[in-house]
Amino acid sequence: MNAETNTVNYLVKLKNRFLVAEKTVALQFEKPTGFVFKPGQYIDVTLLHPSESDGGGNIRTFSIASAPHEEFLMVATRLRESAFKRQLPDLALGTELKIEGPSGGFTLHNNPERAALFLVGGIGITPVRSILLRAAKEKLPHRIVVLYANRRPEDAAFLDELTALQRENPNYTLIPTMNKMENSARSWNGETEMIGPKLLEKYQEGLASPLYYVVGPPGMVNGVHAILNQIGIDDDDIRSEDFGGY
Ligand SMILES: Cc1cc2nc3c(=O)[nH]c(=O)nc-3n(C[C@H](O)[C@H](O)[C@H](O)COP(=O)(O)OP(=O)(O)OC[C@H]3O[C@@H](n4cnc5c(N)ncnc54)[C@H](O)[C@@H]3O)c2cc1C
Repeated sequence: MNAETNTVNYLVKLKNRFLVAEKTVALQFEKPTGFVFKPGQYIDVTLLHPSESDGGGNIRTFSIASAPHEEFLMVATRLRESAFKRQLPDLALGTELKIEGPSGGFTLHNNPERAALFLVGGIGITPVRSILLRAAKEKLPHRIVVLYANRRPEDAAFLDELTALQRENPNYTLIPTMNKMENSARSWNGETEMIGPKLLEKYQEGLASPLYYVVGPPGMVNGVHAILNQIGIDDDDIRSEDFGGY
């Protein structure tokens, strides 16, 4: 137990690994006995026996993408050219890693009379998947709308799963938006704007005193936060999780 943060260290084994979008890998770990977390929280993951290292070190913070009722812990990340990430596609199943957590307060509000409007950039979908699966499983009455922005469908992790989840939860709507369809091999007849005043006005209409949840890379989070303020949303109604490091 870390006295300052109340987080706990665990050794966990890698159980499964698969792509969830182009250059985007999900890692599933065994869930340690007694590991309790709230959807939306994150963990620190340490590579214990790195085959290479660089200035970025051997630890990364990842939101927990799995829901508490799932039997595994899952994180998902964009594969990039850091030493840490270069090792992920080759980690043998059974490899032991250290996780520390859970931490963070990017969690769904309790009052179901207020709607939740999630504004998600790319890999920022990880904590939102956990929140959405829990809401469906527990039949939460909250009205939840998710604006999920990517360049192309190929980049959008968990897109099919979270689209299908709408059938299990009538209170939840997913609005994916793709702003670089000229680079995609797929067809698309959904939204193509970046998250901005036009999409916000369209999809917040009719929501009961919404809370706004902004999550993704820092540039996206700061930009969307500023737009929310410009259209008159008070900081008290905005919660954000900034994936520092991107
Ligand atoms: C609360 C939180 C949740 C996150 N959840 C996810 C997630 O679910 N999926 C995901 O892909 N990424 C997530 N991130 C970002 C993740 O921790 C990495 O920073 C990111 O994936 C980039 O790593 P990299 O190896 O590609 O880049 P690098 O090139 O290693 O990182 C760039 C620089 O940022 C530094 N850095 C790395 N991590 C952090 C950090 N956490 N804070 C500040 N500086 C850092 C490195 O030391 C390096 O100097 C999250 C970050 C935070 C803070």
